[in-house]
Amino acid sequence: MKRLFTGLLTLLLCFQGRAVTPDPEAFRLLDLSRPGLEEVSASYHAGNIPAAADALLRYFKDRSPVNLPLASPDAPLTAQEQKWADEALEHRFFVHTGYQPSFFYGQDIDWTYWPVKDNELRWQLHRTKWWVPLGKAWRASGDDKYAREWVAEYLDWIQKNPLGNYDENAIGDLLTADNMYFAWRPLEVSDRLEHQLEQFLLLLPSRPFDGAFLTRFLVNYHRHCAHLSAHFAPSGNHRLFEAQRLLMATVFFPEMRESATWQQQCIEILGKEMDRQVYPDGIQYELDPHYHLECVKIFAKALSICEAAGRADVFPPAFKERLHLMIQAIYNYSFPDYCNPMFSDFHGQAQMPPLYRQWQKIFPEDKMIAWLSGEGEEGQVPSYLSRAFSRGGYYCLRNGWDEESTVLVLKAGPPAFWHCQPDNGTFEYWRKGRNFLPDSGGYVYGGDAGILAQREWFRQTAVHNTITLDGRNLERTDSRLVSWSSDSTGTHLCVENPSYEGLMHRRSVFFRADGTVRIEDVASGEAAGVVALSYNLLPCEPEEDYLSHRVQTVFPDGNNVSICVLSPSYITMERLEGRISYTYKHYQERPRYRFSTYKKAGETIRFVTLIDPLP
Ligand code: MG
Repeated sequence: MKRLFTGLLTLLLCFQGRAVTPDPEAFRLLDLSRPGLEEVSASYHAGNIPAAADALLRYFKDRSPVNLPLASPDAPLTAQEQKWADEALEHRFFVHTGYQPSFFYGQDIDWTYWPVKDNELRWQLHRTKWWVPLGKAWRASGDDKYAREWVAEYLDWIQKNPLGNYDENAIGDLLTADNMYFAWRPLEVSDRLEHQLEQFLLLLPSRPFDGAFLTRFLVNYHRHCAHLSAHFAPSGNHRLFEAQRLLMATVFFPEMRESATWQQQCIEILGKEMDRQVYPDGIQYELDPHYHLECVKIFAKALSICEAAGRADVFPPAFKERLHLMIQAIYNYSFPDYCNPMFSDFHGQAQMPPLYRQWQKIFPEDKMIAWLSGEGEEGQVPSYLSRAFSRGGYYCLRNGWDEESTVLVLKAGPPAFWHCQPDNGTFEYWRKGRNFLPDSGGYVYGGDAGILAQREWFRQTAVHNTITLDGRNLERTDSRLVSWSSDSTGTHLCVENPSYEGLMHRRSVFFRADGTVRIEDVASGEAAGVVALSYNLLPCEPEEDYLSHRVQTVFPDGNNVSICVLSPSYITMERLEGRISYTYKHYQERPRYRFSTYKKAGETIRFVTLIDPLP
């Protein structure tokens, strides 16, 4: 009865935006025998919970900060963060860049509001991306309204998003799933674990962050850790994000009784997943440059976190060597402007030089990382040019490393997972700062039927620079390297994909040292139907010659290419609707060309494509 009364009183005070009572549960979750917690322990064991809470607050304020790879609390507040913080005061929450302006979540916040049935919009609400900006706005202005708002929203979130019996097998259709499966999805939980540390550092000195709130924060934070420890994703980048973030939480709060156990669990997961998710050539098995980069960031962070915990040697040397290969893959398949190909679920380019500067600390001996860190001011480019990552199926053909170079990156890998598109054989061609044949990108993730249809357009094999049969998506995506050779005259690559039942696609690429390219596509087998070769140009208005099957860009700066398709068979050249998505939920139209012919059963079709830089 007493507990019920205390609970009701707490709720009432929450609603009125007034101070909350301390939660004694916090003290049972901490190891109070640790040095520095003597006063907390004495007050707690004497039954004086408010005094224990105040002593705990003093302990955390006095505690030396752990040097973790978190955003600094002293980082300046950007204009955009100020906007997100101000909008948050009105409960217009910045959830997703793809859905702007931000939606209003109600005066009395509705954490189940789902205005567009894109799963990301519902999940990412619970990443509360505007909470760090609220903390930074408080730091920058000293105005307690930002800190009060953060405390009020934090308590509101706890109250309205209870964690029940979480069972992944009981989720069913997301459109009708319980709110818990959005609020407590392990990936979201892990995201909050990391960012709530930043909020903790930002707002701990503020008046609204009092001892009572601290206890509520810690109970909620501990619940996050325990939930994550029991619900790691079985595979993929989610499992890595979750392990790295729980690892960070345990190093930040060694006071939690289970911290050492959880820490060991995370270290074991990260070590095993490095072997499982990263091929020996350094390519992450989702074959998506965005998630490959995210995984590099995770592993590099894990090393820094262990170093901060005084456990730099917990990972074997092979872990660091594989991480190095992952970074080498990035700088090989990236263009000289630091952009990577837009393959798979691409939705934006990362700012790379700051990342290379972080990686330089881990791999000081790698001169290319130094070169990229200093944007060419230091370090040295590799002695080689082209490189094959044949296990993951990334082939990087180049004639240089600087802005004047020409680079072709082709993707033809093994079967992969959700983020990977059926695009085997596709490639991008970059020359002197211009990507002439960029991938269509990802556009959107999962959601209701309408969202999935939008996603499907960008996934289609037919909107990639490769071969299709009757315009259908590839039935099999399991390429193998047939041959590779590279010398001072250029690079020759041949890959093969069993694209459809009865149709093998063999693609040979001759990349010459001057940047000209000759591609031979051979479609063979028992299948009959329309075989089409597609090329998706960057947004532009090119010159077209339908008789000679040729298209040519006409940029006034003179950096142009001509693409011409030849075949012994009769071929039709058509211009179709093309799209390109550089950022989530935004796309622009662009020219897409289809060169097609009818293939009889048993017939072999050959196309030869000539890509000539002009003049
Ligand atoms: Mg694509």
